Order: sequence, then C-alpha cells, then structure tokens
Amino acid sequence: MVINSPRGTADIFGDDIICRNLIIEQAKKLFKLFNYSQIITPAFEHTEVFDRGIGQSTDIVKKEMYTFLDRKGRSLTLRPEGTAPVVRAIIEHKLYSKIPVKLFYIGNMFRYERPQKGRMREFWQLGVEAAGVDNPVIDAEVIWLLALIFETLGFKKLKLLVNSVGCADCRPPYINIFKGYIKPHLESLCSDCRERYDTNPLRIFDCKVPSCAKIISSSPKIYSNICSSCAKHFNTVTDLLKALNIPFVIKEELVRGFDYYTRTIFEIISEDLESVQNALGGGGRYDKLIEQFGGPPLPSIGFAVGIDRTIVLMKQLSVSLSKEDSQSNVFVILLERRFEKYGLEFLNYLRKCDIRSDISFEIKKVGAQIKLAKKNEFTHAAVIGEDEATSGNITVKKLADFTQNQFNWKKDPHKIYDILK
Ligand code: AMP
Repeated sequence: MVINSPRGTADIFGDDIICRNLIIEQAKKLFKLFNYSQIITPAFEHTEVFDRGIGQSTDIVKKEMYTFLDRKGRSLTLRPEGTAPVVRAIIEHKLYSKIPVKLFYIGNMFRYERPQKGRMREFWQLGVEAAGVDNPVIDAEVIWLLALIFETLGFKKLKLLVNSVGCADCRPPYINIFKGYIKPHLESLCSDCRERYDTNPLRIFDCKVPSCAKIISSSPKIYSNICSSCAKHFNTVTDLLKALNIPFVIKEELVRGFDYYTRTIFEIISEDLESVQNALGGGGRYDKLIEQFGGPPLPSIGFAVGIDRTIVLMKQLSVSLSKEDSQSNVFVILLERRFEKYGLEFLNYLRKCDIRSDISFEIKKVGAQIKLAKKNEFTHAAVIGEDEATSGNITVKKLADFTQNQFNWKKDPHKIYDILK
C-alpha cells in the first residue's frame, strides 16, 4: 500500500497548523471588521463554471484543472480558484438584494502544477469578493484589507504591486498594438509565448524566460494605453491608497492569470520569499463576469491569499506564534487505576475552567509520568492518589521548578487560576 500523500499535496500539522490557525483567525477578525460574511462553496463544480469563468485560453483551464466525469458522465472539476464558484453562488441564490455583496471564503484549491516549495497541487486560499459596486473606493478598501492581513501578521518586506488592465473598450485596441510590437520578435520568443501570442497575448508578460522578459521590457504597456475612464478610475484608486498610507508600486508589466479581470489588478509579494514563488496574494476587479454568467450587471472585485505560502514565510521569518501551548496547562497523573473516575471528574472541572489538560492513560511510576508530561509540553502536573480522592485536596506541581501548591478544587474552584499564573 502507498503510504505517502499524492505529489503536490501535504498533511498540515504541528507548527504549520499553529501558523495556519493564526492566519485564519487574524483574517477572520479583519473580515468581520470590514463587514464581510462567510460563504462555503463545494470543492467541485460543473466544469463549465471554470471554463467560462477563468477563460479557456488561460493556463489554469488549459493545463491545470482536475476534471473528471462522474458516474453519470457529467464533467466536474475540483475548484482551482474561489471567485468563479462564489459568482455562481451569488447568481444561484440571488444574493444581490443588498449591495455590495461582501463575502469571504476559506478553502482548498486544486491545480495540476509542477510542485515546488510554495507551489502545490492542493493548496489553501482565503479570499474576499465584493460585488455590485464600481466605485474605486471599494477597490481601495479591498486592497487595504489585503495589506492589513499581512501587516497584522507582522510581515515587513512586502511590496504591493498595482496596475490597470483596462476594459472591454480599451483592451482590444491595446492588444493589437502589443501584437504589432511582438510580431517581429516572434521567432525569439519561447514556444509557450509563441502559442500565447495567438491565444492569450497578455500572458507573455508573465514569462520568466530571460529572452522573453527582455523583449517584453521595452514593449508598450497596457497601463499607458487605457481609456480615459479607466485612467480616472485607476488614479482615484491610487489617490485613495495614498490617503490610507498604504505603500504601493505601479507595475506596468503586471497581468494576472485569469481572463475575467478588468481595470484594477494587484498583487502582494514578499521580498523574503524566493523570487519565483514570492506572491502571497492577489486579485482584481471583474466588472463583467457576473453578467457573463447570466447574472445582473454587478461590477465586482476580490482577492485571494495563499495560506500555504504565508505559512512558509511565517516560519522563515520566525514570526512569533502565540502558541496555545504557551499558556499554563495541567497533566493529571493517576497513581492507581481505581482513581480513573475521579480523575475524569477533575479533568472535566479543569476543562470547564478553560484549562488545557490531559490525563495519563497508563499507570506508571510518578517520575515516568512527570517525564511524559514535560515531553508533551505541559507546564503543571496534578497527582491523584488515595488522599486526594477522599479529601479533594489536590497538589499541583510546576514542572519548570517543581514548586507545588495545594488547593481544594471542590471548595475553592477559582484558586487554580492563581496557582497556574
Ligand atoms: P491566484 O489564485 O493564482 O491569483 O493566487 C493567489 C495566491 O494563491 C497566490 O499569490 C499564492 O500565494 C497562492 N497560490 C496560487 N497557486 C498556488 C499553488 N499552486 N500552490 C500554493 N499557493 C498557490
């Protein structure tokens, strides 16, 4: 039997779980403050949701989706991203009676990519979608929220990149200009980019091959070719970011991997992460997607944060983890099996007091039990024998220095807090 998890997947435990819970906890606090409510969508959707949503010429749809037929021959796909499913749910449940619709999600995503550090085939994202508002104020608010998530985690060397990819009016003429520039260089581009030239030319901007990057560096950029209303929108976004004291860089080469984006796009990268997989999160406006799905015209914007990559960075920077383990906790040691019932009652009392606690399941010598308690990072131990079980007087030992305190847990139940201080 195979006992390793499939390539590109991971079990999450130990310090990773502590980091992950902290990220989710901080983000959820912010989502609440910013008035977002949670949505959970299925892990798989009808394939069409992604084909039409993300765009058939994108790398994700062309090469990275986990698509399968179910037993009735329906084509289903494990979600590679969170926006298209949320959009599908907004339309299906007509969630637009109150505008803006502000939703957040946390979920696992699946992409058949070449796995490496920070790039998985199953990975976790948290993200938001704000639907129904075209005012640039909401662009600034969404970007502000993204920046705050990393700020509250204590990350420093971050760069927020912003750009505008224009709209249905100004992007097609720009693409013609761009293709005109690229055409004489076609032979010098890598084979992927030669294909992109026909299917999705803007993706050439994402190519990491040095010869392609060189050609791109002097090409006309979409930023300087957007229409006046897109430019006005973008200028307001950047003015608002300045007003909110959020540092950003306009990166004219920034394009993102989904066809649905319009106008504002953004990405947050860490200068502490290795160059290729340094994006922690990103997003953008998608003004036409909901209409394209058959819903009402609801201009929208959202972002997704990569939880796994954020964990990598937290560990790399040794961001201090407020470990649950750093609080006091008690290991209950039983001297004989007949005290098990009494031990469970005492454990029940500790847990009702919100004190992390556990009990020995084997009867061994006290010394061995204390060793076990220390190994499991308990700060205190309580030994239960004949005297304790009859009187209710329990002695609690501090394992760091073996000082001890006695209290009667039935008569003086609050004393435990003083003892564990
Ligand atoms: P995207 O949905 O491609 O815009 O990605 C948003 C964020 O999700 C990225 O900035 C990464 O942090 C994370 N991410 C995307 N793809 C992967 C992957 N294959 N493995 C791990 N994290 C990923």
